[in-house]
Amino acid sequence: MSTYFISDLHLEESRPDITEAFLSFMDAIQGSARVLYILGDFFESWIGDDENTALQVTIKQRLKAFTDQGAVLFFMHGNRDFLIGNDFAKETGCTILEDPCLVDLAGESVLLMHGDSLCTADTSYMKFRATIRNPAFLEPFLKRPIEERKITAQQLRAMSQANNQGKSMEIMDVTQNEVTQALDKFNVNTLIHGHTHRPQVEQRDSNKVRIVLGDWDKDVWYLKINEQGERELNHYPLTQTPQV
Ligand code: MN
Repeated sequence: MSTYFISDLHLEESRPDITEAFLSFMDAIQGSARVLYILGDFFESWIGDDENTALQVTIKQRLKAFTDQGAVLFFMHGNRDFLIGNDFAKETGCTILEDPCLVDLAGESVLLMHGDSLCTADTSYMKFRATIRNPAFLEPFLKRPIEERKITAQQLRAMSQANNQGKSMEIMDVTQNEVTQALDKFNVNTLIHGHTHRPQVEQRDSNKVRIVLGDWDKDVWYLKINEQGERELNHYPLTQTPQV
């Protein structure tokens, strides 16, 4: 039995190929996966658990089937789907994790994050992040009709895209000092995160490692940890039959 990590699928109606790849991936790991961690930006957008589009229902049913068979599902919010809430958790059987969060993996304490909170050089994003996550904005937002919420979400997305124009790759990546501080603060040797869409296993010094999950735009990316604690960051094309 293995533990799997995925993130940054950015599931949306306009990318049925990613949805198909996810359903195939779930079929492939069902039975051999003891635990699946989804570390955020699973959906491209989420405006509240009450929306229930055809895509959302399909995905929720697949996750429910996964947990109904005894597998464990953990979900951490990303910056795109941080409004996923308790109804989603109940409907899928998942447990929502705080960001950051410490977990035990094959006897080692490991730090999990989505990753956006590490991108502190992007000061305008950090400001935007604080604004949209403020209860003063969110509580009234969630009370509005779905159609209105959709429009606001599109406007916020357009603002965020305009704001990202011309930003350097370095600014939008993690700040290395933040990674060092996070590893020190939690006293761990391993950090796993997504968000940056720059998959890698970064050996930081003799015993510290940062594993960055990949996004699913062209390839399925996943981290697999087997019972011996061996880690593999793997990928294969979206349309390929999974060999996980
Ligand atoms: Mn993200």
